[in-house]
Amino acid sequence: MKKIVLLGSTGSIGTQTLEVVDSYSDRLSVLALAAGSNVTLMEQQIRAYKPSYAVMWSEEAAEKLRGQVKDTDVKVLAGMDGLLEIASLPEADVVVTAIVGMIGIRPTIAAIKAGKDIALANKETLVTAGHIIMPLAKEYGVSILPVDSEHSAIFQSLNGEPKDKIRHILLTASGGPFRGWTKEQMANVQVEDALKHPNWAMGRKITIDSATMVNKGLEVIEAGWLFDVSPEQIKVVVQPQSIIHSMVEYVDGAVMAQLGVPDMKLPIQYALFYPDRLPMQDNKVDFFALKSITFEEPDPEVFTGLKLAYEAFRAGGSMPTVFNAANEKAVSLFLERKIRFLEIPELIGASMEQHKVIANPTVEEILETEASCYEYIESRC
Ligand code: NDP
Repeated sequence: MKKIVLLGSTGSIGTQTLEVVDSYSDRLSVLALAAGSNVTLMEQQIRAYKPSYAVMWSEEAAEKLRGQVKDTDVKVLAGMDGLLEIASLPEADVVVTAIVGMIGIRPTIAAIKAGKDIALANKETLVTAGHIIMPLAKEYGVSILPVDSEHSAIFQSLNGEPKDKIRHILLTASGGPFRGWTKEQMANVQVEDALKHPNWAMGRKITIDSATMVNKGLEVIEAGWLFDVSPEQIKVVVQPQSIIHSMVEYVDGAVMAQLGVPDMKLPIQYALFYPDRLPMQDNKVDFFALKSITFEEPDPEVFTGLKLAYEAFRAGGSMPTVFNAANEKAVSLFLERKIRFLEIPELIGASMEQHKVIANPTVEEILETEASCYEYIESRC
């Protein structure tokens, strides 16, 4: 029985991870769950999965949860201390990082230091602290198993081939709801428009990131860390049907791809059982109904967030943190209707322009960079 710690259990990836647990309850058990503020869903999950630990971000939410589940044996913890404690529980086998944002950095580091394999969905952690996470994972002999569908596809297409055999990674993108639009057309996009993703049902932040294509930019940097490739080796290919989840072009021109219906349960399940591949029901591409798979080049002059991601990746050091933190702040301001859609990449660009790169930032410097980036954006808005 594999014991899972699930950080971000009430979110899109978190709930789908629990669906995988439902399918394989003879092989997976839930040791600990963590969420931000959704006490109602956390209570339901505690009753259904009987974890030994549950963490809520605020003490207030934790106190409320304690009251609601006092008839159970669960130990309710709070805040970063709680996340760090469950990420390093001796009984745990794998930590699924499905929290949204840079809050995931410290728990991921704690889990690696405790020797836990990581099923990584929380891309913001790798984007900002990949230079810490990847060597640490190597030092502690733990696996970082990608949950992001594109990175899972690359991982499956690589299947152990050495890095010097890779010519390019072809990272596919749906193009989001505004594929083919001009900047003029995007000027008056509302929150509701940006939250309508054509193919994937995801959390609010990543859905906005998909609409700006900043998500693809974050994934470019994530792929750089996971597969140790340069920015020049990663090409973004728009594939609107979201059937090809990504591809690897080898030095001899052979291209390996992983295809499948757009369903995150497949990459989650693959990460949890790797290297085994287990059956999954109702998960079949119907090629005859699909008829065609098409390809387009993204326009970096329209989706400037993607261009900025490459710039941040090339600059390295603390610049990807600025790219990510500015985006996190700008997206939350957009969701609060305080800024316009196109101001998201504008604020990222402005934040990057005024930043002096720290070459090899520590976790403290990453968090300081995040805080000063937030301050800079607040001073402008
Ligand atoms: P959601 O917004 O749906 O869920 C986020 C989860 O994190 C919720 O459980 C939330 O709890 C929890 N959370 C937020 N803040 C804290 C905190 N401070 N402490 C503890 N828990 C917290 O996000 P997604 O599931 O969509 O995304 C999660 C991560 O996975 C992101 O990094 C995203 O980029 C990545 N990802 C997502 C994909 C998807 O299909 N959704 C695909 C690939 C990657 P609460 O509900 O209480 O707020």
